[in-house]
Amino acid sequence: MAILSLVVDQQEQELKEVYKGSCHCGSVQFEVKMDLDHVRVCDCTLCRKRGALNHRVEASDLTLLTSLGDMTLYQWHTKTAKDYFCPTCGMLPFRHPRTAPELWTINVRCLDDVDLDSIPIQRVYGSKLD
Ligand SMILES: [Zn+2]
Repeated sequence: MAILSLVVDQQEQELKEVYKGSCHCGSVQFEVKMDLDHVRVCDCTLCRKRGALNHRVEASDLTLLTSLGDMTLYQWHTKTAKDYFCPTCGMLPFRHPRTAPELWTINVRCLDDVDLDSIPIQRVYGSKLD
């Protein structure tokens, strides 16, 4: 069993690529490791206004090249989710989502060199959460 799970772990890692990301003005820089096989489009009040294409990653897959302390934290409703945006240009490149606050949700629109139209979209319905 141990050997089987090791093989699966290695396969999962091999599917992940490293992408560079930033806000619009470039103050916020990051790298993220992900298997970009889908993006999520959410209909919650935040996501529908910002038009994000979301993809969730483990906390360890995001490397911040800018301090979170240099960003502005926005919390709303249950105040479980943490939305970080650039105080200069207002882009919201990543957030800790309410339903899995241990993860990061990356806004794939903030990544460099990604063909956004080629990624399958999954619709999620954040508006249905209480
Ligand atoms: Zn910025």
